[in-house]
Amino acid sequence: MSDASGVHAAYRRLLLSREVQELARRFALDQGVRYEFVDERRSFHGKAIYADGQARVRLPCNDRPEPYLLLTLLHEWAHLLAMRQARRRPVPPHGREWQRHYQAVLQAAVEQGLFPGNEQEVLRHAAAGEASTRHACLRGADGEPLMPATPSFSAGDAVQFTDRQGQRVTGIVRRVNQRTYTIAASDGERVYRVPISYAQIAPLEEELPEPAGGTPWHPGVAVEFVDAAGVAHRGQVVRVNLKTLTIRTEAGQLYRVGYSYPHLRRAHA
Ligand SMILES: [Zn+2]
Repeated sequence: MSDASGVHAAYRRLLLSREVQELARRFALDQGVRYEFVDERRSFHGKAIYADGQARVRLPCNDRPEPYLLLTLLHEWAHLLAMRQARRRPVPPHGREWQRHYQAVLQAAVEQGLFPGNEQEVLRHAAAGEASTRHACLRGADGEPLMPATPSFSAGDAVQFTDRQGQRVTGIVRRVNQRTYTIAASDGERVYRVPISYAQIAPLEEELPEPAGGTPWHPGVAVEFVDAAGVAHRGQVVRVNLKTLTIRTEAGQLYRVGYSYPHLRRAHA
């Protein structure tokens, strides 16, 4: 089903749903916003325009699971909120202000029950300030990813990314596996394996996405999770890796747990 009218109908259903309308009211976006449905398939991004007090949101027609359509809509709302607040002052497209609004909108959407089963991942995506909705790993009721990650780079591409210490590394993609890039660093010595869903990677000639400010995970954070055998653990983050946390449990065991692991959450003291 890659029928534009089908996708646009799905957007319209979302916009008419009680929860989304309630959310729009909370952010004073329930009136004065015009939606346009455009025949744009290349980009998952919509476009938010705010001129002379009149707000418009253009929505593309890429066929994607509905929770992703909702993320795209809320992404554009965050642009409107940032532009409305800034008035005439120009705001960087996915800078701090946009990130702050995106976090507020997604937090409210989660409270509204709009992302059942994906609450933790949506909050992580928001806290990481990820501008690209495809970096959110949303799962269906069966726990399987709704959109398996697809690589944006191929072998031979010159890229840059941030390593675990937040340092910028440049290199050449040597191999693309199902889940990772193998990247030879320009220093000619190190080789990195970077998950294809990693947000802090960009073509060499572009700007790196802004570093994840306020990510909820850092060493010392108390967490709890239920392992594959159904046993509940409490512990502390000892290291934050690219896609996982190294956790020392109260019983003294070390675990590596993916950020988007469904049963991982912050523990409240
Ligand atoms: Zn945007």
